[in-house]
Amino acid sequence: MKQKTKNKLYAAWAWCDHEDKSTEFMLQFMADEAGVEYDTAVDFVTASTDEARTQWYKDNPDWLNKWRLEHILCPAPKCPGALLEPMDESYTSFKCPKCGHTVVVFKKEYFN
Ligand SMILES: [Zn+2]
Repeated sequence: MKQKTKNKLYAAWAWCDHEDKSTEFMLQFMADEAGVEYDTAVDFVTASTDEARTQWYKDNPDWLNKWRLEHILCPAPKCPGALLEPMDESYTSFKCPKCGHTVVVFKKEYFN
């Protein structure tokens, strides 16, 4: 497995921990984020040691900031960290699955 893929898996895992997501959600989310099969995400979590994860957090102390630059989060105070989902393929309209808040943006603004 490429280091880049591992990083994506660890980051998705870290975010799900941060958000207190269920294991089921987490595994599917990790697979989606890293572009791997669901079973690969399961194997990754099963094979990963606490030491390796701790080391990843040490190596990536700014993971959450990076994550926020790469993901558009709900601005509503009641759902911090909630990931907005694109409403169409142009990626200009996003909706929060938690509160239904919608945001219309040019994606670029979030990556500056
Ligand atoms: Zn929300």
